[in-house]
Amino acid sequence: MASPLPLTRAPRSRLEEVDWNDLGFGRHFSDHMVSMRWRDGRWDDAEVIPYGPLAIEPGNAALHYGQTVFEGLKVFRGVDGRIRAFRPDANERRLQASCRRMCIPPPPDGSLATALEALVAVDHPWIPRRRGESLYVRPLIIGEESHLEVRPSRSFRMLVMSSPVRSYFATGQAGVSLKVDEEHTRSAPGGVGFAKTGGNYAASFLPAEIARREGFDQVLWLDGVEHRNIEEVGQMNIFFRLDDRVVTPPLRGTILPGVTRDSVLTLLHERGVEVAEEPIAIDSLVRAMEEGRVQEAFGAGTAAVIAPVGCIGVRGRRYDLPVGESGSLSGDLFETLTGIQFGERADAHGWMLELPPAEGLQPESSVQPALGASV
Ligand SMILES: *Cc1c(COP(=O)(O)O)cnc(C)c1O
Repeated sequence: MASPLPLTRAPRSRLEEVDWNDLGFGRHFSDHMVSMRWRDGRWDDAEVIPYGPLAIEPGNAALHYGQTVFEGLKVFRGVDGRIRAFRPDANERRLQASCRRMCIPPPPDGSLATALEALVAVDHPWIPRRRGESLYVRPLIIGEESHLEVRPSRSFRMLVMSSPVRSYFATGQAGVSLKVDEEHTRSAPGGVGFAKTGGNYAASFLPAEIARREGFDQVLWLDGVEHRNIEEVGQMNIFFRLDDRVVTPPLRGTILPGVTRDSVLTLLHERGVEVAEEPIAIDSLVRAMEEGRVQEAFGAGTAAVIAPVGCIGVRGRRYDLPVGESGSLSGDLFETLTGIQFGERADAHGWMLELPPAEGLQPESSVQPALGASV
């Protein structure tokens, strides 16, 4: 299948520069990206171009005022060799919602699927072959106008780039450690917490840096009004299993509506697990941890899929949580989700979008290690 969009090929592939045994996350970008422009009131000029530097004027308003949105989703090479994206329709809807909040014209329905198809048609050799690894796709939209007035840009650029990424499974054994931050806030009611927009992440760097210095992996955010209720982790939504039910904070505009979160809720309902989207006060979580009633906690997000939480720090105290016990929900959810993503399990919910195989697909000639090879 040829690219559904006009294609300008990269003069030379960077595929051979990749260390497939040490992919990291977002360290390497594939040879091409999809580009679209918003001009004269419409999204247009969709094309595939070489990944590379952009010419941006220093007066570009997005650089000054942060009118940007992004997304993150994964494309998998299944154990059956087929290529599939996980729930790109959900990412597209969220991208559109982020756009509306940030005064960016939302790209029309189906543009992400078209972009994925075009990107995979040309950059399929970049999709890792090892079970667990995947091609992370990062759509980005930025205001393109150069002006210093504080107002929305009138032209925009959308880019869809991709990066082969490692499997998180190997590092997840001990569980992540989270620091409850009672000083800083990630978002506030009426703000932009539900949008994947740059400023949310820039604002989290300092609190995350402080947490790291104190020996934690990430911050567990509380609400921005009273610092009372648990919200989420920097790039993951949070779930707790206590008293044989599962709870996760509700979506009220201050947390990111994760696609993984939604998938986890669907799977838990399906299994008959009692699950509630309800506020979780930090005080009651502390009490539950002191009384040993927290059976497990885990984060849910595209990058790690499911990340068990091994430790939560609150007010100078550390509470260890059970990780990796047999029969844990987090292990089960991880296996189920990745099983669906890699085509090992039936996709009962229609979550996977199969991307047509590209013409001239030659797995044998790939510079990557053979399928199933171990690190
Ligand atoms: C992206 C993100 C998530 C997870 O969303 P997924 O769609 O599951 O990847 C959670 N919280 C924040 C702040 C995020 O940016």
